[in-house]
Amino acid sequence: MNTWMNTRMWYGWSTNDHIREHAASGGLVTGLLLSLLSSGTVDAVCALQNGEDVYDPRPVLITSGDEILSCSGSQFCGSILTADWVVRAVERSPGIKIAAVVKGCDAKALVELVKRRKLDRDDLYLIGLNCTGTFSPVQARSFIREVCGQNPDKIDSFYIRNGRLVIGCGDLTLEYPLEIIEERGFGRRDSCRRCDTPIPRQCDVVCGTWGLYGENSEHTTFVEVCTQKGSSFLDQARKDGYVTIVPADMKGVEARFRVEAAMLTIAERNRSLMFSRIGNGLSRLSFIMDETSRCIKCYQCFHACPLCICQECQTKKPWLVQPGEVPPPFTFHLIRFSHIADSCINCGQCQDRCPMDIPISLMMHALQGELEQMFGYHPGRPEGMPVLAKVSQREEWEHYYGNNYLEMLRLFSQKTPDTRNE
Ligand code: SF4
Ligand code: SF4
Repeated sequence: MNTWMNTRMWYGWSTNDHIREHAASGGLVTGLLLSLLSSGTVDAVCALQNGEDVYDPRPVLITSGDEILSCSGSQFCGSILTADWVVRAVERSPGIKIAAVVKGCDAKALVELVKRRKLDRDDLYLIGLNCTGTFSPVQARSFIREVCGQNPDKIDSFYIRNGRLVIGCGDLTLEYPLEIIEERGFGRRDSCRRCDTPIPRQCDVVCGTWGLYGENSEHTTFVEVCTQKGSSFLDQARKDGYVTIVPADMKGVEARFRVEAAMLTIAERNRSLMFSRIGNGLSRLSFIMDETSRCIKCYQCFHACPLCICQECQTKKPWLVQPGEVPPPFTFHLIRFSHIADSCINCGQCQDRCPMDIPISLMMHALQGELEQMFGYHPGRPEGMPVLAKVSQREEWEHYYGNNYLEMLRLFSQKTPDTRNE
């Protein structure tokens, strides 16, 4: 085997001086996207652009190489799941091939949607980004106002580097260790603090700054190749003159694994702490019933969840959930728990959108953890199939309207099926 095939870890940058200077981390990702789009390997690119300010990342679907330069690098504020845009594009144009720039939660959502046959993995070219997590814009603005003493509207830059939040405001640069921010009650979104996927190896390649070392640490991206497809498109971009790559320094590779190990340890500690707050067994059930009693049945958590994909939501069946009741009966939540809990990827979208501040993601993630211990299924990874969810809509219909439908009614309704049919 040649060096190319043997090497998974690279340093890379754009061959275009302007892109290398101005794009994030030397513009390697920009170079890959330009190569994929201009070679016709993909029809479109899904990435983020800067919106009005640092709190406003916007997903975009791009079909022209000229527009790729307007994409941003990593974004550290906001709660965006790029997976939604990919799914919508595929629904509009079945068979479209998309290069998507994704963080861990996006990658996990896409993997679960591939299993549910909403997406075809062969049509996806996934460029992962290492991710430390993101801040809610509301929390970030409060932190900047209350702790930094700055006007949140005057902030020019907001990013995490080496475990520290860095805020730029005119000539002023402020830095705070993440743990200090989190001790003060601000900090990354709760689901990010519990995240077990800082390096999303579900993707074809993963890019970022973890592992840069020595002379190659400025204007450079660390690239980890995870699949044969990733190896091929990185090599194609090199051959076509979009990017330069050199093997990563081993000291940098070791540093990368140390950063990842530290991130995983912190996340594990946060999971234990947060899960212990909601109790076990009956005390957890009573916590969940108490929290969900504030629900106003707005359906935001359903709309936000990448895995809530049933065409006919069971919560809208009047014999399962009585219409017009607010708060809705507990069955409303039980149906969602029973559909999603085995596959929850802890993206936090449901919790971010809940107007009643119900910690839905926390509850769902805690349940998922227990189901994983029982059945060994870890959602968001390519291997394995979900335990509770049906893998395709067709199978789900067959399931409900086959032998088990009457059993569903018996479990979830006070009416018997016979009474309903009268
Ligand atoms: Fe994400 Fe919430 Fe759905 Fe889990 S239940 S996948 S945290 S939106
Ligand atoms: Fe209820 Fe919150 Fe979901 Fe709305 S988002 S339906 S209030 S749990």
